[in-house]
Amino acid sequence: MTDTDVIIPATFHARPEPSGLEAIGITAWFGTHLVLDRVSLHMREGEVTALIGPSGCGKSTFLRTLNRMHELIPAASMAGQVLLDGEDIYDPSRRLTDARRLIGMVFQKPNPFPAMSVYDNVVAGLKLTGQRTSRSTKDDIVEECLVRAGLWREVRERLRHPGGMLSGGQQQRLCIARALAIRPKVLLMDEPCSALDPTSTRVIEETIAELRSDVTIVIVTHNMQQAARVSQHAAFFLAEENQPGRIVEHGPTDIMFSNPQDARTSDYVHGRF
Ligand code: ADP
Ligand code: MG
Repeated sequence: MTDTDVIIPATFHARPEPSGLEAIGITAWFGTHLVLDRVSLHMREGEVTALIGPSGCGKSTFLRTLNRMHELIPAASMAGQVLLDGEDIYDPSRRLTDARRLIGMVFQKPNPFPAMSVYDNVVAGLKLTGQRTSRSTKDDIVEECLVRAGLWREVRERLRHPGGMLSGGQQQRLCIARALAIRPKVLLMDEPCSALDPTSTRVIEETIAELRSDVTIVIVTHNMQQAARVSQHAAFFLAEENQPGRIVEHGPTDIMFSNPQDARTSDYVHGRF
């Protein structure tokens, strides 16, 4: 050791930067209607977090606050903080498009650009990054995203076909590929399988399992078996009569299902709601 070495006492170390997405005290309104009240949740990197709960309790609204889509709805407002790897995505010095580029979203109803080719649908995601990309790089990225979305083998001969010609399950995987082209750190999925048949659902669940190691995933689902299959962490949302939505309980998914701490969670996960 030299005299210039500095000894940092253990207590000086800040707590480790939380990785993943951290929502702190999210409160959301539509006009004067309070729909979420101080909801906090850490959605960890490397995990799939499932948001469960009855219709109307604010799950979709919560998801939209995470990538700043809530503020696009007329008369909608919110308070609270969302940190991505410790950085505030609502920081006024940060451009809205930057926040959205880091956090992709997939909706219940597959919404590829129907007249656009499969290839161009994926490129449409890539364009959002604002980077100029050569043709051969584009080809590589399109292939990589379609592979990661579990669609490549089915569409490699049909890249020039319109996205709207694919089956519902394939269209949803195309939307996942388009979202991945942005190279997001987080993927938000709002009931991505509700409009799909069981086979397509299974393929999408496999895709989610594969993506988990490099994309933080937050999924809203009404299907308890699905939540149990795909997620490691689960949060139970509830809006009791005339009350805004809150998280009643959250924790490791296996515990939420096998040993829920709150009677309301137990009733919900056992279908007694
Ligand atoms: P969930 O996804 O859990 O079904 P939502 O987030 O869609 O719940 O809805 C939460 C509450 O916010 C509901 O009372 C719903 O009626 C209301 N709400 C949702 N979207 C809007 C909107 N665009 N304008 C006004 N109220 C809305
Ligand atoms: Mg919803």
